[in-house]
Amino acid sequence: MKADRYRFDGSRRCDLRELPCDGKQDNLDKEQILAKTARNLQEMASLQDALYADGREGLIFVLQALDAAGKDSTVKHVMGGLNPQGVLVTSFKQPNSEELSHDYLWRVHKALPPRGSIAIFNRSYYEDVLVVQLHDLQKTYKMPPRTLEEGKKAFFKKRYRQIRHYEEYLYDNGYRVVKIFLHVSKEEQRKRFLARIDNPAKNWKFSLSDVKERAHFDEYMDIFETVINETASEESPWFVLPADQKWYTRYLVSEIVVDTLRQCCHEYPRLRDEARAELQDCRTRLEAEE
Ligand code: ATP
Ligand code: MG
Repeated sequence: MKADRYRFDGSRRCDLRELPCDGKQDNLDKEQILAKTARNLQEMASLQDALYADGREGLIFVLQALDAAGKDSTVKHVMGGLNPQGVLVTSFKQPNSEELSHDYLWRVHKALPPRGSIAIFNRSYYEDVLVVQLHDLQKTYKMPPRTLEEGKKAFFKKRYRQIRHYEEYLYDNGYRVVKIFLHVSKEEQRKRFLARIDNPAKNWKFSLSDVKERAHFDEYMDIFETVINETASEESPWFVLPADQKWYTRYLVSEIVVDTLRQCCHEYPRLRDEARAELQDCRTRLEAEE
């Protein structure tokens, strides 16, 4: 699949500045891409049915990005191809006081889907190594001094290890975690912010804090790159997707979702002989009612 070239599983380094934010290098034909996306959305729905019927594997799609990269619209358009009954979408915002009085994975664990279902994390525990690291928030959260005494670098090194272990733990317990970074360029982010200011229908999407965070764009790129390299694995890969053309991003995400669903599906569960005989018995009784 086209998305494979954007896949990082720890076997090669991710160098964010070398990776494209648009799809020019992929020789795109927009009409074709839109048609393929539509096909993927249809296939997604039937694969999801099989995942649910099988009920043994759970999927978690993590979406991470800077503001205006298209997380919300990805959830809306691509995940819209899924049956809402089997999907849980969780947006991870600034932790509230209850969340802050627990470990950072507590709220994540509560948001896990039952096996057979899909979770979409709009932001995630990765914020705890991204925004927290960038703004030194670990110092402001109530934690005993021993957790910080080895210094900032060691603190986040430990968190990378914890995240790797947590994802391994999930994998060993029947979950697949697929992480997607929407790689938007600084220029495209600027254009989208301006559109949010100029277009009254988009004003509600604009927030002053987004512009404040933009001032840290380059630092975010450095931290994202480290985080991706520290946490990419074969079982829980990262996809670093060009995000300057939304229609192309949606297509790539739809490919990733279909491909992941295919990996865990699995046929519809087969009935044992007695169960099949019972079904036939029910059929005979229903027919006799006519
Ligand atoms: P949108 O703006 O499209 O509604 P969003 O994901 O940007 O979506 P906001 O409410 O604007 O939602 O922002 C959520 C904020 O919460 C982000 O700035 C994010 O960095 C922050 N956040 C999430 N998790 C944590 C965390 N563990 N610690 C501190 N800040 C966090
Ligand atoms: Mg926001």
